[in-house]
Amino acid sequence: MDLHFELKRGERPAGIADLLDRMKETASRHRIRCPTCGWQPGADSRWTCVPTDAPEYYAHGCGTAWNTFETRGCCPGCDHAWRWTACLACGMWSRHEDWYGPDDDDI
Ligand SMILES: [Zn+2]
Ligand SMILES: [Zn+2]
Repeated sequence: MDLHFELKRGERPAGIADLLDRMKETASRHRIRCPTCGWQPGADSRWTCVPTDAPEYYAHGCGTAWNTFETRGCCPGCDHAWRWTACLACGMWSRHEDWYGPDDDDI
């Protein structure tokens, strides 16, 4: 099964504007980054709620695309609270809470 590949990015690297967005974001919340590769999602990063079998079985993916870090992993379409989040850069799944690193985490 490779359903989780549908969770890949709907965005492309944006450069400076994206970087500034990230800086604004990280100033107001914990630094969010992929525990595996260190990628940091931008304000326009989008995850899609789709039927998934691993690592988190959920058969009722509703197709909603949203920034999962705006809702702490909760899908605004079907209210499913995703405990796992796939990295849009490296494709690895990590527990949602593991994305919230300490402020002094060096990237
Ligand atoms: Zn959903
Ligand atoms: Zn990653």
